[in-house]
Amino acid sequence: MPADLDKLVELQAVDAELAQLKARLAAVPETLKRIDAQLASARQRVEDARAAIKNGESQKRKHEQEIKSLNEQIEKFRSQSSSIKNNEQYKALLSEIAHAEGEIGLHEEKIIEVMLKADALQAQLTAAESALKAETTVINQQKAEAEKEAETDRAGIAQAQARSAVLRKDVDDTLLANYDRILRSRGRALAEVIDHRCTACQVMLRPQVLSNLRNGQEVVHCDSCGRILYYIPDHNVTKVAAGTGIAHQAEREWMFIPSMGTSGAFAVFINHKGNATMKAYDALTGEAIARRVEKNAVCQAIFADEMRDARNLFVDEAALEEKYKEQLPPEVLDDLRHQLPKP
Ligand SMILES: [Zn+2]
Repeated sequence: MPADLDKLVELQAVDAELAQLKARLAAVPETLKRIDAQLASARQRVEDARAAIKNGESQKRKHEQEIKSLNEQIEKFRSQSSSIKNNEQYKALLSEIAHAEGEIGLHEEKIIEVMLKADALQAQLTAAESALKAETTVINQQKAEAEKEAETDRAGIAQAQARSAVLRKDVDDTLLANYDRILRSRGRALAEVIDHRCTACQVMLRPQVLSNLRNGQEVVHCDSCGRILYYIPDHNVTKVAAGTGIAHQAEREWMFIPSMGTSGAFAVFINHKGNATMKAYDALTGEAIARRVEKNAVCQAIFADEMRDARNLFVDEAALEEKYKEQLPPEVLDDLRHQLPKP
């Protein structure tokens, strides 16, 4: 690995941790707000229950007031009875008294209703108060936890920032500027190469790029995504030795080979079950012009000559070459040609 690159690898890890801590810390006010809102709604339920009880009490007083004034009216009617002169007046007076007594009865019924409701409201208030008490305890705990986590995150951020500053001082300015530029546009500036591929964009590396990278003399960028590439031999050795997954999966890469066909060829290279296959189509006509299968080989080695000046292409469809065995259709040719630089 070129000097400084290992420091950049660490810097990327520190920067990623820093971003994660900052995002977590930024979410804390939102958490506290949600917790407060929860508590406010428990408080509101208590307030509502108290208001309903108060309202009931005032209704009861109103009815009692009405009863009092009706009783006074009845008293007044009775006191008038001595001055009554005829039967008709007497009947009218009795009817007034009966009416007032009827009204009193209605108000008394209302008072009973209010009192029955008051019992239910009191039970509601008690429940709301004990819920508020329990929630307050839980919420205070949650708040304390959130604040403690925020404190830990702040400390982590300070630590990561300090480490980042130390690493940045040690890295060459041009390389660092490059790192920052790619970081801004891509989110991650470095990509590890495993099994001939850039692990960020999954594009297979040309043999020349891979060999430059392995030599470790210079900083190598991915042809496809532009990230700074690094290579850790151990990670590749284990993969090959373990022989899991990757080896059983078809590895497929489309490339443009300028030196093949009348004016270049679109070719697919496939590593599958230990065999290396190359299938090429004329870039002008789309006609299949070559197919080679080599047993117990990998494309990067056996087709190194063909791949030397090749350029990577992006092909979305998985097994394009199996679908179009003899001839690539015009729309596929168009799409591939569009990926080439203008002559
Ligand atoms: Zn890449």
